[in-house]
Order: sequence, then C-alpha cells, then structure tokens
Amino acid sequence: MEFAALASAFDELESTPAKLGKTEIVARLLEETPASALPKVVLLMQGTVFPPWSDREIGIAQQQMIKIISSSLGISQDDVAERFKKSGDFGLVAEELMGSRRQKTLFSRKLTIEIVYENLRKTAVIEGKGSMERKANLIGELIGSANPKEAKYIVRTTLGDLRIGVAEGVVRDAIVKAFFADVVWAEKRIIELVMEEKERAFVAETGLMDYLLEKNRLKKKDVARWKERNRVAEKPLEEIKKIDPWKKKAKADYIVLKDDGAGNEMKKEVTEAVEWAWFMRPDYGEVAEIASESGLDGLRKARLRIGEPFMVLLAEKSPSLEDAISSFERAVIEPKFDGARVQIHKKGEQVWLYTRRLENITNQFPDLVDLARKGVKAKDCVIEGEILGVSPKTGEPLPFQLLSQRIHRKYDIEQVMGEIPIQVNLFDLVYADGQDFFDRKFSERRRKLESIVKEMPGKFQFAKQLVTKDAKEAEKFYKEALRQKQEGVMVKNLDALYQPGRRVAGGWLKVKPTMENLDLCIIGGTWGTGKRVGWLGSLLLGCRDKSGKFLPCGMIGTGVKEKEESGGVTFEQLTRLLKPHIIEEEGSEVKIKPSVVVEVAYEEIQKSPNYESGYALRFPRVVRLRTADKGPEQADTKERVEHLYRMQFGRGK
Ligand code: AMP
Repeated sequence: MEFAALASAFDELESTPAKLGKTEIVARLLEETPASALPKVVLLMQGTVFPPWSDREIGIAQQQMIKIISSSLGISQDDVAERFKKSGDFGLVAEELMGSRRQKTLFSRKLTIEIVYENLRKTAVIEGKGSMERKANLIGELIGSANPKEAKYIVRTTLGDLRIGVAEGVVRDAIVKAFFADVVWAEKRIIELVMEEKERAFVAETGLMDYLLEKNRLKKKDVARWKERNRVAEKPLEEIKKIDPWKKKAKADYIVLKDDGAGNEMKKEVTEAVEWAWFMRPDYGEVAEIASESGLDGLRKARLRIGEPFMVLLAEKSPSLEDAISSFERAVIEPKFDGARVQIHKKGEQVWLYTRRLENITNQFPDLVDLARKGVKAKDCVIEGEILGVSPKTGEPLPFQLLSQRIHRKYDIEQVMGEIPIQVNLFDLVYADGQDFFDRKFSERRRKLESIVKEMPGKFQFAKQLVTKDAKEAEKFYKEALRQKQEGVMVKNLDALYQPGRRVAGGWLKVKPTMENLDLCIIGGTWGTGKRVGWLGSLLLGCRDKSGKFLPCGMIGTGVKEKEESGGVTFEQLTRLLKPHIIEEEGSEVKIKPSVVVEVAYEEIQKSPNYESGYALRFPRVVRLRTADKGPEQADTKERVEHLYRMQFGRGK
C-alpha cells in the first residue's frame, strides 16, 4: 500500500476537528486497507510504529531533526531552525522546504507503508557506536523519497508528534464502522439513508418502509428509487436478530430496524466485542486485523497473551464505607495500598511486569522478578498486585513518590533496589496453567491465587482481607489501613467476575478520605512547545507562608484545556491573565508575581523535598479561576496544606 494514500488521509484528519468526521475518515481508510497492512496502518495513524505497551522510542531529538532536514534537503541548519521557531512544527518546515524545491526533487523510490514502517522501527532499535548517524540516514532516506506531504508526516512521526488527533475512541468506533453493518433505527437517519445517492446493501425490517410511507415520512417514489439503486433485502425482525452483523457475513452495509431495543442490542454487541479484544490485546492494529478477518467470533475469542499486558479491572468510587459494604451480598474489604498496580506474567522461568498503563517495568524491578520466580508455583500465570516501597530499616511502607522513582529509573537499578526495597501485596489472578479466570467469581480467583503462590511475609504476600457486613468492624479495618499510611480500602464483590478495562458497578469500590480543593496562587510557569507554543504550559502552584511569601507545592499541566470549552480554563486564557505579571524569564522558565488564584483539585498531598513548601500535590488540576473573588492574600496557606496532609491518614488535629 502506498504511503501517499495514508498521508492524504492524515491531511484530511488534520483538517477535520470533529470526532464523528474523523471516525468516518478512519473507517474509510480501514476499509480500503488490505488486512495484512492493517496493524501497520493503525499504528501509524496513532503516530507510532510500536504497540502501546512497547517502551521503544524512535529516539530522534529536535536538534537531530534540524540536521536531518538540512542534509536531506540541502538547506542550511540555520534556515531550518529559523523556520521552526516560527511554526513550532518540524513537519511543516519539511513540507514548506520541499514544496519550494519540488521541481528539483527526484523521488528515488515510491514510498510504501511497509518501507516507512520498517525504517522507523529500525531507527528505534539501532544502538551503539555511530547509531545517531545510522538513525539519521534511515530517516533521511525516507525524506529523500517523500513528496512534501509525506515528508511532513514522516518528520512528525519520527518526533512522536503526529498531531492528527486520532484518539483511541476514534479508532474503536472506526473499526466498528468499517467491518460491521451499521445498525440504524432512528427515523431521521433512515430517511437520510433512503434519500442518499450512494449505492449500498441494506437489510431492512419487513414493514418498515410501509410504516414510514403511512406516516408520510417518505414518498413512494423515494422508496422505489432507493430499492432500485441499492441492494435491499427485507426480513422479519426475528430473522434479523439472528444475523451476524459482520459485513462479510451480513452482506450488508446497513441493517435498518423499527425496533430500537433490538438495534441497540445489536450495536452494543459489536462495540463490546471490539472492546473486549482491545482489553485482551491493547493494540488497535491487531484488533482491526481480527475484526476484518474473523468478525465478532474472532473478537470474542481474543485472549491475553502471556508476556503482553492486558487492560485491568478498575475501581469505582463509593461515597462511603457503609454504602460500599451494603452494595454487595458478599463483600470483602482489602486495604487500598498506596503503591503501583502490577500485572505479573510468568511463563516458565520468564517473568514480565507491567503497570496498569501498560508500561513494561520488568527491568526496573529485578527484585520482583526474583520474588515471582521463587514464590509462584504455577508454571504459567498472570496475577495482579500492588507494589509498595518499604523502608530498608523498618519495613514500613514508604510514600508512593519514592517508589515512583524506581518505576522511572533506567540506570543504577541495583543501587535504588537497596535504597527502596519493595513489598508486593497480591490480590487477583486472571490466568493460570492454561486456563482463563476472567469468567470466574472473585472468591474462586483468590482461592486459585492462594493455591499457586507461596507467601514470603513482608515481601510477597496476599492482600489482607476482611469479610464483613458489620459497619463497625469495617470502620476499624478502614482506620487501620489509614494509620498504616494506605489510601483507604477497596470493597470487593466476592461474586463478581473479572471485567477487564472497566470501572464496573458490582466489582470493586474504593473508599478513601475526600480531599478538599485548595485555592492556590500561580507563581511560575514554562513556555510551551508544539501545540502549546505561545502559551504558558506547566504552571507552578504556591501556597502562602506566615510571612506572606509563596512557596511552591505542585505543578499543573492537565485539567487546563487546550481548546476553549465551556466552563473550562484554557492555557490561552491563563496565559493572557498571567503574562502581565511575569517578573523574570530564564530560557523557557518564567517567574510570576503571585496574583492569579486558581481552585485546584488533586488526588493526594505528599511530603516532598523537591518543593520549598515541603509538600507536593499529586495529580493537581485546575477546577476554576478564583480571580473574581480571591486575591493572593486569600490563597490557602502552608498550614492548611499541612493540616490536609495529616487528615489523609485519619490523624487530623
Ligand atoms: P484508583 O487508581 O483510585 O482508581 O484505584 C484503583 C487502584 O488502586 C488499582 O489500580 C490499584 O493500583 C490500587 N489498589 C490498591 N490496593 C488495591 C487492592 N487491594 N485491590 C485492588 N487494587 C488496589
């Protein structure tokens, strides 16, 4: 398949902001792509050549890109850098430069999707001496063979910044659209379809057209023309319900129904099958290939592969502990550990570790690999637990922040292993010795887990459990969890099946102390790059100390919308507000005179040596501006942050 076709689709996607429009374009592209090329096309449209869990990176930095563009197009590095300064987009720079010298360019070979994909992958794996030059050659070769539009997207993909906005939801909906008959029951949409000029295949519920004619929604001549132009089969609802909506089997582009209940059901089945496959194999490239080749059946049969991560079950919030335990007939309480979720995959002696966001952390935790080898008796299995950092001296749990240093550590792993040893609390099992456990009750999964693991207390152990319906006992367990510096508790349904990838009612309920929002001052920031060029990106938050000085206590980057949205606060808006108060600039960093107060929500307050206040907010996000009603002197104080910090552990004043 030619890369040019993909580049044109990318162009269309870039200029189509609406999600529905994007879905249409992607669906068309998927339909036109041969099944064998689907995995590559789907990854490329998401701006990558690796599945989401891969830690491989193409590894070309901006500075390197200047050199590559300069040498492949014969233009000075200064010129490239100058143009980049203006647009903040190397893709555009390459397109512009090539456009202006198009006549002179001799395309050496037509680029195919395979060539682009292979070169990008090779670029990522090259290591060792002279690797930078070899990487540059591979990308240079692609640019040299590209037309301006292709070059734009090759450059952007190389830098990991494709900017065509194909989110996972779009790919999912497009897979549904491309490979399954669209089930339609809304009158308005049916009428649109009947009036359309396109030639399509329909399966329509018997009597539906007569009904629309009677209601005067359609005219006889329209229906006649529709039947003439399209392939139309009319069938009773009972027969339609038995149809497999996979296009290859249904031999239809549309199934039109009068019955909305049946329509909803058919549509739901397809979306759920696509989602299921994605939860098992979180790579839409693979899911698209399965959908195209083996439809609903194939999607439903998708199973996790040992060694590759899957999308884990998530928890829902519960308003109170009492509420949570009374939600289930058979409830069990576990501490909600303040650590990192880990999927442990084991096949013989080989062990892989993944986070819930599918990051491969096997290399960062050789100690856990070792524990799994020693402690797991099953030959093959996939089990889950929470990693906690513990103090090397006392064995007491350490704040998550310290553990997070280990998660991201690439070097000196042995050394941090000694500084921050770990403890794993195991709480679930989804696969053991050839069998899936997704459709087994939690009680059974836990039993199996206990039967295949040899505990090593304090290191590799089962999550503590309390089965109770008694509010007082539950409260005691909860308080104890908080005292031990855990986040709260998880209340689980012993009869629930494992539903991957979901926050489901009937599964897990988390109970933790609610955190009050803080009103903080913005006291610094960083000028953004890429999409955020010209805006202040990360913003430094400060709380007031007794003398009126503002002390940093967190950094905000999310929760601020890139585009204007009702009620939301945008980067643009904040930049406009903050710009007049900038008092110092150094590189891209700015210092801001405390004047703008924002209300901030967050997950947790942690002790932190990195911020002058001694505290750091975890996952802070702007809820709203308080500029109208609060000045800096009304911002929250360090004492309040301290107080809230203590409250988290049930140790309020
Ligand atoms: P949240 O991130 O607030 O949605 O809570 C869900 C997370 O809590 C899971 O992904 C786990 O990392 C973590 N967790 C801590 N303790 C447990 C437990 N006993 N059972 C399940 N998840 C737990």
